[in-house]
Amino acid sequence: MAKDTIFSKIIHGEIPADIIYQDEQTTAFRDIHPQAPTHILIVPNNVIPTVNDATPENEQILGHLFVVAAKIAKQEGIAESGYRLIVNCNKDGGQEVFHLHVHLLGGRRLGPMLTRQEE
Ligand code: AMP
Repeated sequence: MAKDTIFSKIIHGEIPADIIYQDEQTTAFRDIHPQAPTHILIVPNNVIPTVNDATPENEQILGHLFVVAAKIAKQEGIAESGYRLIVNCNKDGGQEVFHLHVHLLGGRRLGPMLTRQEE
C-alpha cells in the first residue's frame, strides 16, 4: 500500500484543514494557498500517489472524484458560472503532494489554461 501523506493526515483528522465534504471514499478541503475565490482539493481517502499509478481497480474512485466535484461546485454556487478541474502529475505537471487530488477552481474568470512556457 502507498505511504501516508500530509493529505492522509488531514483525512484522518491528525492535522487541521477546512474540510467541506467527506464520505467513505473521498475528502474535500480548501487549499491552504488558494489560487481563486474557490479552491478546493478533492482527494481519495486511500493514497494513489500520481495519475501514473492509477489502475483499473481505481476506476470507480476516479469517477467518484468528478461526481463529488460537481456536487461541491453546486454547493459553492459556481456550477453555472463555471470552474476548472486540474490534476497535476509529477515534476512537469507541477505536482507537490504525491497523493492524487483534483483541484476545483472557480469564482472568477480563470484565463488561459496554461501560462507561457518557462525557458
Ligand atoms: P499539487 O501541486 O497539485 O500537488 O497541489 C498541492 C496543493 O496542496 C497546493 O495547491 C497546496 O497549496 C496544497 N496544500 C499543501 N498542504 C496543504 C494543507 N496542509 N492544507 C491544504 N492544502 C494544502
